Amino acid sequence: MNEHVPVLVAGGGPVGMATALELAHHGVPALVVEPRAEVSWLRPRAKTTSARTMELFRRWGIAGRVRDRAALPVSWSDQAVFATALLGREITRFHGCFGLDLAGDDRAAEPGQQIGQPAIEQVLRETIAASPHARLETGWSLVSLAEDDDGVTAVLSGTDGTAREIRADYVVGADGAWSKVREAIGVVYEGSADERPNFNIVFRAPGLADRVPHGPAVHYWVLNAEQPGLVGRLDLNDLWWCIAQGVTREEGEADPLRFVRALVGDAVDAEIVATDPWTAKMLLAQRYATRRVFLAGDAAHLNPPWGGHGFNTGIGDAVNLGWKLAAVRNGWAPAALLASYEAERRPIAARTIEEAARNMATLAPELADPRLTGTDAEFAAARPAVARAVQTSKDGEFHSLDLVLGYTYQGSPLVAGAAGGRLAHAWLGPGESLYDRLGREFTLVGDMGRPEVAEFAKAADDAGVPLELLHHPAAGLALVRPDQHVAWAAGTPGTARQILRRAIGHPE
Ligand SMILES: Cc1cc2nc3c(=O)[nH]c(=O)nc-3n(C[C@H](O)[C@H](O)[C@H](O)COP(=O)(O)OP(=O)(O)OC[C@H]3O[C@@H](n4cnc5c(N)ncnc54)[C@H](O)[C@@H]3O)c2cc1C
Repeated sequence: MNEHVPVLVAGGGPVGMATALELAHHGVPALVVEPRAEVSWLRPRAKTTSARTMELFRRWGIAGRVRDRAALPVSWSDQAVFATALLGREITRFHGCFGLDLAGDDRAAEPGQQIGQPAIEQVLRETIAASPHARLETGWSLVSLAEDDDGVTAVLSGTDGTAREIRADYVVGADGAWSKVREAIGVVYEGSADERPNFNIVFRAPGLADRVPHGPAVHYWVLNAEQPGLVGRLDLNDLWWCIAQGVTREEGEADPLRFVRALVGDAVDAEIVATDPWTAKMLLAQRYATRRVFLAGDAAHLNPPWGGHGFNTGIGDAVNLGWKLAAVRNGWAPAALLASYEAERRPIAARTIEEAARNMATLAPELADPRLTGTDAEFAAARPAVARAVQTSKDGEFHSLDLVLGYTYQGSPLVAGAAGGRLAHAWLGPGESLYDRLGREFTLVGDMGRPEVAEFAKAADDAGVPLELLHHPAAGLALVRPDQHVAWAAGTPGTARQILRRAIGHPE
């Protein structure tokens, strides 16, 4: 007999593991299969964890651990500096980037965090190892799957060539850009790619940090017409990353040190630790799901990295899909709830791709006026206009809370009227977030003296929907979903029964 699991997740990148942790949050077992025995320490990839992703990590109780593992403390810097080279002249800078300045701010329960993707993956792996519900098995890849009315049969292949069959109620394809799961359900990406090549380099340069004249910053953009790009620190020791723009794989691999030196602006001694060529993609899966198979993260969408949204959008997918699969599996929501995953998440991915593509329209090569690297007089003459162009064209890339915290599921079949946004955050006391008081499933938040409260409590009881009540009069009255989004707010018509049934996916 085949092994059986309620949910099989293909891919133990950040999104696959987050999906399993969301399911575990609701008591549902999931098995994650992943070929890599270890996280890829030399490929840092995502470095920007948004305030929203940190709030979702807080929900699972791991935000503190993620911050402890971050090599750059959040208090270290919230700046992005634009200069002629890492050691060159400063042109302009941004403050409060990526929501890193939100500590204690009423708008969010957590500020963002700069942390390399491998460190996040390591924390997620450890959290799964300690979970009574989630399991990660490394050394396995999904090779094929077949879906029928009652479930899905997946064939896995071990790194040693062993084959293994698993039967699951649901399969989540979080297996990245080259997703086998996407291929198996006959879905393709739609969209385009940017042709300009980029070459990432991780390097070690002892003593370099002491020479940087700009102070701490999470990004140093190099507006040098001869070699534009970005540089940043991976830790507070000697490890750095950089992106050399317009550099092909062949050029980069032939002499990576040349590009490091060009971006640093000095013939530094540096040890090349790793290289990674890439091009930006704007791709969205035509569909996100069949009845029992779902795509999440990069398997469903790819966006240019400008603004740092890719992995964060994937964590949003994981939470949206996870609570819904759990609600169906736990028996209090109909299977029809699952159709809302694509309806809610695909438009968010489309908007994210659009915003990241807009950020990509003006990069260091476009902003690098050749006079910036000329004489002092030439620099002084060119600087004001370049600084203005940077401030106008790049502000949205560093300050995107409207997207990060402000995206909404308004218009979703689950949501009533103008609701759908994330519940407005508030601090209830020092370090105590309103979000910490929400139930794991639905919560009615607001003035518990209102007459509708008893109606909701009865409707939830009748329908078997877990509902907690939270007295917080500032919220008016709102029905808050397990993902902290508002399904209904007082003033929108409908009976409690209708609103609740709609919020868990019963057709109207
Ligand atoms: C250079 C670069 C910089 C980036 N910077 C940022 C940033 O600052 N902020 C941000 O948010 N995003 C950034 N991203 C994007 C981010 O890295 C991805 O969005 C993120 O890794 C997506 O996570 P995922 O879990 O969906 O996919 P992946 O991380 O690709 O994980 C997929 C997993 O599936 C596994 N797998 C593959 N095939 C199979 C199979 N057949 N069976 C089972 N498992 C399989 C793989 O081993 C892998 O572990 C960047 C990307 C790049 C390339």
